[in-house]
Amino acid sequence: MDLDKLAKPFLMDLRPYSPGKPIELVMRERGITVPPIKLASNENPYPPYEKIRNALVAAIDGINRYPESGAPDLSDGIAKLWDIDSGEVFVGNGTNEIIDLLIRAFVEPGENTVFSSLSFAIYKLISMQCGVEGIEVPCADYKHDLPAIAAAITPRTKIVFVCNPNNPTGTYNTTEELEVFLEKVADDVLVVVDQAYLEYVSCDDYPDIVAIRKSKANVISLRTFSKVYSLAGLRIGYAIADKKVVGILNKMRQPFNVNRLAQAAALAALECRDELSRYTAENVRERDRVRDAILDIGCECPPTQTNFLFVIVKGTAGDVSSKLENLGIIVRPMGQFGGPDNSFRVNMGTPEENDRFLEGFRAIMGEG
Ligand code: PMP
Repeated sequence: MDLDKLAKPFLMDLRPYSPGKPIELVMRERGITVPPIKLASNENPYPPYEKIRNALVAAIDGINRYPESGAPDLSDGIAKLWDIDSGEVFVGNGTNEIIDLLIRAFVEPGENTVFSSLSFAIYKLISMQCGVEGIEVPCADYKHDLPAIAAAITPRTKIVFVCNPNNPTGTYNTTEELEVFLEKVADDVLVVVDQAYLEYVSCDDYPDIVAIRKSKANVISLRTFSKVYSLAGLRIGYAIADKKVVGILNKMRQPFNVNRLAQAAALAALECRDELSRYTAENVRERDRVRDAILDIGCECPPTQTNFLFVIVKGTAGDVSSKLENLGIIVRPMGQFGGPDNSFRVNMGTPEENDRFLEGFRAIMGEG
């Protein structure tokens, strides 16, 4: 008996999520002892801020006890930061868990979710895991085509994901574009605006989802502590949503979904707004500098509002990324994630790391 045949049939075609290559794996694969630079998972290149480190150390003594279910202190802190009610906050084991809970709680097999075909791969993966159809809508100019997304919604659509700014392209939809879109979406369809990269946004016409939500109860914002807050390894993110949606998510979650250390670290992170703006300012400088250099090399690269760049090369990006790995630099070729074969994504590291990436990339592209 093939034991895997015991599983639900649709799982036969499903491939596990393939994350950015970990540093340790590349060292093993390549037999190298100097750790490579990882620019493949949109992480913050800097370790957590001092205040967070201290909060983590202080929390260690409590880890013989289960964490507080529902992360009430953190929910209060998040609510205060955004001037909302703490009942509108749901804390998850990373934003990924919240995407999973939303689909499992709100979408039945036979119903569907809608999202861009060039967006965060988890929307599709979790839809498939739940036996739910994921309707994919092509991007226009590497951006979410919101009119086409609105047109793709059917009576069986329960959730639309709008990743803004978008992973992997870095592009964004403006306040006006989003407002026009929301007018077209019925109020019994949840619109999940994934704002994982919110803190990196520097443009003036980016939508204020907290304000928009006040008149649109079906709109949900997702945010994470994994990026600018440097806590990717702890797994913690949150949703701002209608109290009724938060109530449903609380019914679906594991009792202790967010661990004690993650809760303590995230609470301390909320106190680090000044440190955070130093990082985001450096990120804006670096993403402009690196993008200019990429354009000079002759590659296409859409402007970004995030901490990463989407790069289109001549030829296949898999070759480029493999050559970069030989130089100790890990980027994310997009072909294996359903993106175009000629594209890869590179996130901003420290200025020195970015220099090393550019030097390697320039040399590889110069080889013809
Ligand atoms: N949404 C987007 C758009 C992302 O890029 C990511 C991380 N890659 C996530 C959600 C997941 O974040 P978390 O680490 O909080 O699960």
